Amino acid sequence: MKRDYYEVLGVSKTAAADEIKSTYRKLALKYHPDKNPDNKEAEEKFKEINEAYEVLSDTQKKQQYDTFGHNNINGGNPFAGQGSYTQQYSGDFSNMGDIFGDIFDGIFSGTSNGRGRASQRNGEDLRYDIEVSYLDAMKGKEISIDIPKKETCSVCHGTGSKDGVVPKQCAACKGKGQVRYSQGFFSFSQECPHCKGKGTVISRHCYECKGEGTVNKRKNIKVKIPAGVDEGTSLKVSASGNAGSNGAPPGDLYVVIHMKQTEGFQRNGDDLYTEIAISFPQTAMGIDYSVPVLEGQVKVKIPPSTQPGTILRIREQGFPKLGRKSRGDLYIKINLSMPKHMTDAQKRALFEYAKSMGEIPRAEQYQGDSFFKKIFR
Ligand SMILES: [Zn+2]
Ligand SMILES: [Zn+2]
Repeated sequence: MKRDYYEVLGVSKTAAADEIKSTYRKLALKYHPDKNPDNKEAEEKFKEINEAYEVLSDTQKKQQYDTFGHNNINGGNPFAGQGSYTQQYSGDFSNMGDIFGDIFDGIFSGTSNGRGRASQRNGEDLRYDIEVSYLDAMKGKEISIDIPKKETCSVCHGTGSKDGVVPKQCAACKGKGQVRYSQGFFSFSQECPHCKGKGTVISRHCYECKGEGTVNKRKNIKVKIPAGVDEGTSLKVSASGNAGSNGAPPGDLYVVIHMKQTEGFQRNGDDLYTEIAISFPQTAMGIDYSVPVLEGQVKVKIPPSTQPGTILRIREQGFPKLGRKSRGDLYIKINLSMPKHMTDAQKRALFEYAKSMGEIPRAEQYQGDSFFKKIFR
């Protein structure tokens, strides 16, 4: 379960924008990775805080969240029927500078841009949620998804500059993208205001991407869903996230699996559960029964005197174990089915059977039947 965003920041639902901002600022400073090196818990907390703030600081997203909660934070689903799409928090802290103001910019240096070649910015990771049927999870499948993402601009090949004019090194920061300055005892670095951290300046911008080096496009991506995926399985499609700027590496795409249940079946881990109903003579005398499974049938031997409610376990007929050769098991619950109508001859046979077992049926139950009238006269 995702935690409530207000709870994450520790503010009330009626908190003003200023309060949200200052609370976020305090928390982000406390849990910032640079202040908590090698602390996984702090890192997770930091991501959670940022995600919450990203939504609560945006009037439109906040309103949607207040109305729909976590379910529909991205508003209208552009892929109706095809799964949903969200831009994942990517761990790129470069856009956080403004909120911390002057003095705190220093702690962000080096978190995202790398040192020296500041002109590059890695592409963000993307997330795509998709529903997968039991059968597809059993057999695996190749799917093709259509997502909007940043692609390298084909006009300027990602340089952002027009007519192949090579971007010039920024004179203000000497290409580093950061400028350093001292304040009292400390020395800080800050994003270069002249080139906005890119390290280069472009005299004439590419008309297609306006100097960004990337353009928004819908991209069709083929994803191989391996056999054995389950609810929550996250498949990484390397380099299929947003394109990086100025030749920096792209982000990755994460396809997150959600299971769609097939009626009559239940999945539990790698095991598959189903039920069948057979008649009293069949359970009493045993039978070779063809049990319908996700695809086709499985033949099982139901031994004589099988009690209703018995669960048969068929080994290695469940879901494949992801990335392994073995499989889970199939469990079949045996239920008893009763006939809805019986002919006189059938009732007679059953009566004879009951008599042989010493169980004489109650006479009044057979009043309407001519055969039994004769017997119980
Ligand atoms: Zn610069
Ligand atoms: Zn361009």
